[in-house]
Amino acid sequence: MSQLPTFLVEHGLDKENGMPVYNPGTGEVVARVRNYAASEVDAIVRKAEAARKDWAAQTAKTRSNHLRAWYNLMVQYREELALICTLESGKPLFEARGELDYAASFADWFSEEARRTYGETIPSFAAGKEIVVTKHPVGTCAAITPWNFPLTMVTRKAAPAIGVGCAMIMKPSEATPLSALALEYLAREAGIPADIFRILPSEDAKGMGEVFCTHPTIRKISFTGSTAIGKLLLTQAGSTVKRASMELGGNAPFIVFDDADMDAAVNGAMAAKFRNAGQACIGANRMLIQRKVHDEFVDRFTKRVCELKVGIGTDPDSQIGPLITEKSLQKVESLVDSALAQGATLACGGSRHNAGAQFFTPTVLTGVRQDMDIAQQEIFGPVASIMSFADEEEALSIANNTNYGLASYFYTRDVGRAARVFNALEYGMVALNEGLLGTEVAPFGGIKESGLGREGAHQGMDEYLELKYRLLGGLSA
Ligand code: ADP
Repeated sequence: MSQLPTFLVEHGLDKENGMPVYNPGTGEVVARVRNYAASEVDAIVRKAEAARKDWAAQTAKTRSNHLRAWYNLMVQYREELALICTLESGKPLFEARGELDYAASFADWFSEEARRTYGETIPSFAAGKEIVVTKHPVGTCAAITPWNFPLTMVTRKAAPAIGVGCAMIMKPSEATPLSALALEYLAREAGIPADIFRILPSEDAKGMGEVFCTHPTIRKISFTGSTAIGKLLLTQAGSTVKRASMELGGNAPFIVFDDADMDAAVNGAMAAKFRNAGQACIGANRMLIQRKVHDEFVDRFTKRVCELKVGIGTDPDSQIGPLITEKSLQKVESLVDSALAQGATLACGGSRHNAGAQFFTPTVLTGVRQDMDIAQQEIFGPVASIMSFADEEEALSIANNTNYGLASYFYTRDVGRAARVFNALEYGMVALNEGLLGTEVAPFGGIKESGLGREGAHQGMDEYLELKYRLLGGLSA
């Protein structure tokens, strides 16, 4: 606990009775945090609802200034926040610093966007009448976030909500509540009222989710996590016809055509696959390599994968941290074992790593087929699964053969092919010749069973706004 910054020790921790937060790299308890019960939510929502009216009545500039102050504090406490993130998520420090920069960018971006919730006037359908459309905060919002990006998932949802005048209560993943609590502390330092932004760690995810989705005062639920839980929350939210944003699972194809720049493709594949030890919903889940360049790609890529340094996040040399839980490790292990049993070939790795109890060796599998479990499920681990294809038509057919539709990647130098593939890929996000696509300025989100709504960009703000159509009649003299 001594490694935690003092402000966190004094904010939200319950050293004796709290729920434990583990370091997945070492198995040690990092801290204990207050464990909220679902029965406490109603009182918190009432306070949020009372506070949000004053908050919404402030000028956009005032709210923007608070978000900017929040951003400045994140930058000021960059090292502390990165360390907290590493201790509870296991990711290497260099990635945690990168994540903090990404997380902070949403406070920065929405501090600006929150001043631009412009409405619209529409040419009228009749004389003596005018039409004006205005935008208004949806009200009190709730969110549930995952553990793989414990800083970013908080700011990407909270900053637009707070910026437009909503209140936000949030349950972070039970694995990573510390990053969220640290951000809550800094938000208060930035002058954001306590009732406007609350972090409620809880071991009772099911109970909290149910209250969030069914409480009549909560007008919006935002969730990032698995498709299975997203479907459950959508069903529950139906009871009160709540607005919902869902950032769910993915099964990203990473396609390399034979005219690709091979250096760029290998670099992109490393980034798209191994960031956060492969624990990302936009991570490359199926690598599709055109036959002519398949062997060259596999050789070059495998060489790079073998060089990856595995170790606990606080080790400055570490590039691949642990998996978040023993259960996640078992899932990755069983996907690899079943792929091998079904005929895939191991190019490197393939088993647990001796850096600690929850580490898996970076792995490359070739000869993967569409019907294998590993091609149909999210791997969420440092395992690259490679298939080969004959032509563009086959690549697209494999790529789109999934219920998911979050991120996709392809590499080609042919401009005609680029245009065709952009159009044909059934995904909310498509990157050409790039392996990383997250940025605060572009709309993040998926189609099909990967989700509803978008986060970041100006579209991310609309998720927290309602439209009001005003018809002004009787205007004729
Ligand atoms: P992952 O498999 O990536 O952990 P989950 O969907 O299980 O994804 O978890 C994402 C978030 O959803 C976490 O905050 C977790 O506590 C929460 N969660 C898990 N089960 C439920 C549930 N039944 N209702 C509401 N939230 C849940």
